[in-house]
Amino acid sequence: MCLCHTTGVAESLFILAATRSDVTLRSTPTTLDCAACGDTVTDTGYLPATESDDGYEPSPADAVCGACGFTAVGMTGCAPELGDVTDPEAADTLLCVRATDDGVEVVRSKT
Ligand SMILES: [Zn+2]
Repeated sequence: MCLCHTTGVAESLFILAATRSDVTLRSTPTTLDCAACGDTVTDTGYLPATESDDGYEPSPADAVCGACGFTAVGMTGCAPELGDVTDPEAADTLLCVRATDDGVEVVRSKT
């Protein structure tokens, strides 16, 4: 799970927008490197993506790890917004992902 501890309107909307199980990545990165600290994402992280008809096209170059998302990129202790991670023009969705042995698994999406 994400380290999404915060409660409130924004987080509730985040959860509502994210409760969808049809998230398909057009290409699944096997590993993600954090754009903020450079470390490989080994637990949870955030991956910007562009939605298209047949799934999401991820932008691994702009991914951030969970720790940086909560400290360096987003507001401290709060999940980052898409605009915090990347240029809003470059992606339209922020995916909360988890690194697994098989690659990256999408936990939630936020449009
Ligand atoms: Zn990081």
